[in-house]
Amino acid sequence: MHDITNPTTERTSVLANLRALLPNRRLRLHEALRLAELQANRLLTLRGSLDIPVSTEIVTNLPGIGIDYELDMPASGCSDWDSRHRQWVITLRAGEPDTRHRFTLLHEYKHIIDHGHAGITVAPSRASINRPAAETVADYFAASVLMPKRLIKAAYFGGTQTIETLADLFEVSQAAMHVRLAQLGLTRSVDVDPLPALRCQPPSGIARHRHLGTPASIRSPLSAGFGR
Ligand SMILES: [Zn+2]
Repeated sequence: MHDITNPTTERTSVLANLRALLPNRRLRLHEALRLAELQANRLLTLRGSLDIPVSTEIVTNLPGIGIDYELDMPASGCSDWDSRHRQWVITLRAGEPDTRHRFTLLHEYKHIIDHGHAGITVAPSRASINRPAAETVADYFAASVLMPKRLIKAAYFGGTQTIETLADLFEVSQAAMHVRLAQLGLTRSVDVDPLPALRCQPPSGIARHRHLGTPASIRSPLSAGFGR
């Protein structure tokens, strides 16, 4: 099961360790995706997560991370720096399926890791107005944590090949599993929903009870098709 290591030693080391994997320059999208998977695997290793389903406690038990739930927010999640309590707060929309909470939590954690980084350069031909590169990369990180390549392939080539069964096994949505299998070359690629559900967005008034300061709140626009 999950051997959550002593959090008192990890206040800076997990986040700092993951941030240290990013070079201090703008990244191309393919680099950012590759590094997101590297960070995901490093997170799993640092937190001693060896089994499935991956426990979100690998993030929620970290010092310096708070989790909140709100009903009245227009997107599934957001991340804020709470300057009063000196911690990051990931807010999840209450009432959504646990599979979506899990995915959104990891998506938001990637935004926290990337806070202050130089960002991603996307060729104009690949740029998407509706899907900023940071959202794609945050989704990829979440998928890589919750559906590690090694464990997906072990399950798949061990005979578990239906989307439904794999999704249940890894506690993710069927949509998320479908996309992940395509990323790993185990199924055909999938189309992205042209009207995606919002993953994270600035919800008005969401931070009314917080003292927001530097570093500034993460307010990334939207996300698509992954991990409903
Ligand atoms: Zn986002």
